[in-house]
Amino acid sequence: MRMPDLVGDVASVLLTEEQIHQRVTELGARISADYQGRELTLVSVLKGSLPFMADLMRAISIPVSIDLMEVSSYGGTATESSGLVRILKDLSKPIEGRHALIVEDIIDTGLTLNYLSGYLRGKNPSTLHICTLLDKPARRLVDIPIDYLGFTIPDQFVIGYGLDYGEYYRNLPFIGVLRPEVYAAP
Ligand code: 5GP
Repeated sequence: MRMPDLVGDVASVLLTEEQIHQRVTELGARISADYQGRELTLVSVLKGSLPFMADLMRAISIPVSIDLMEVSSYGGTATESSGLVRILKDLSKPIEGRHALIVEDIIDTGLTLNYLSGYLRGKNPSTLHICTLLDKPARRLVDIPIDYLGFTIPDQFVIGYGLDYGEYYRNLPFIGVLRPEVYAAP
């Protein structure tokens, strides 16, 4: 992969820092109200959800625990998920009897989250719900009930605010569309 040009490789900005901040603040307020008085664990899925988790947890005003999982999908391509999921890092504490909320960056085909929610349900939380910053419904293969949604986006490959292409661009503070020529570059 050629060296990325962080600014030049962005075809357009889809969501600005301000738009993201405002929506995350709203989600945090809703989650705080809905889980008032309950034992909540936020389960974030590395690495793409890292900025979202960091901002969302600070927008939540009730006591929460956090835990981190890391999964990788394999057998697909750099821009297409395969649905085959490998767990690279598991929860560090049991969620049995707690209210668990998965904090995800983006749902595309839904295969990753379908696997992950089945896996976490097997750990017997009291409830298991899903919060995703982005939803790309155009390519959904399995139905995923989304409880908290940031933005619905069109079927374009996006980068920034945690989302990568070839492990780069995660540090962009906004969400942008990657120039299609970048995937084609040798
Ligand atoms: P799914 O299993 O729902 O198809 O894909 C979920 C995972 O694929 C996401 O967690 C993310 O890692 C990756 N993904 C899906 N769409 C995009 C996208 O537009 N941009 C980036 N950077 N990753 C994506």
